[in-house]
Amino acid sequence: MTELAYAKLNLSLDILGRRPDGYHDLRMVMQTVDLADEVTVEPGGGQVTVQTNLSFLPCDRRNLAAAAALRFQEAVRPDLDGAAISICKHIPVCAGLAGGSSDAAAVLRALNELTGAGLTPDRLAALGETVGSDVPYCVLGGTALAEGRGERLTPLTPLPPCDVVLCKPGWSVSTPVLFAQADGKKLRRRPDTAGLLAALEAGDLTGAARRMYNVFEDVLTPREWSGVQAIKNTLIQHGALGASMSGTGPTVFGLFASRAAAWAAYEELKQTGQETFLARTV
Ligand code: ATP
Repeated sequence: MTELAYAKLNLSLDILGRRPDGYHDLRMVMQTVDLADEVTVEPGGGQVTVQTNLSFLPCDRRNLAAAAALRFQEAVRPDLDGAAISICKHIPVCAGLAGGSSDAAAVLRALNELTGAGLTPDRLAALGETVGSDVPYCVLGGTALAEGRGERLTPLTPLPPCDVVLCKPGWSVSTPVLFAQADGKKLRRRPDTAGLLAALEAGDLTGAARRMYNVFEDVLTPREWSGVQAIKNTLIQHGALGASMSGTGPTVFGLFASRAAAWAAYEELKQTGQETFLARTV
């Protein structure tokens, strides 16, 4: 069975505080887009194996797809007898797009179907939480508010369908380092999450796009920040309704009401040599 594992975007990301257990309380509005990995799952074979088209990715249980299959076998179907997982990656790695979590979610959905286990989406999401904080959202997808570590989900009125241009700068950021930097800093700006939720409720794409913001933009180094701003400027100049960084970055995306405008922004950003994608909301 082949499942599509969609990339997620953060329409907003706010850090509410640090918890005694070392994690952070977050408030994020999430959205899936059709930039996707293809995850093929075949049950059986005696053990869980993973192969991917990217040689640098781990193939053992450090791969979130393998961790998800092992978890499913332990908790739901001890008689599973392994699974052969093959992943064709299209979502860039370490990009703030939850590619690994989405692969894990795709494995859970596929095994649920293939074994006839019949777990509800909510139960499958709860199982995913033990694999990673972003996995429950990736199981459910769509437009959702994610709170806590990201595992407490409230489905939202879907973002009106639109084109999305994504561009990943050539550098990568370390998630633990960014969180540590955010802890040591008074954040200058916070997203208007309530305004964003109201715009979604009203079906107002422009209003939602204008309210997108990610607090991690405030803790980038000046050099990283100017790279992010340059992409945002190109997106906005080409007519993006709004632009923001996703997750802990560095991918920057813009929402477009016009396909022609999105295409022009995509073409210009691609010429800079940065990884660039044209996608649609799902
Ligand atoms: P997030 O937005 O959830 O922070 P990300 O997009 O920044 O995620 P991923 O690409 O999901 O990052 O994961 C990056 C890390 O996870 C890498 O260290 C990679 O080795 C590991 N990893 C484990 N499984 C996978 C997978 N199936 N695909 C990609 N990376 C994986």
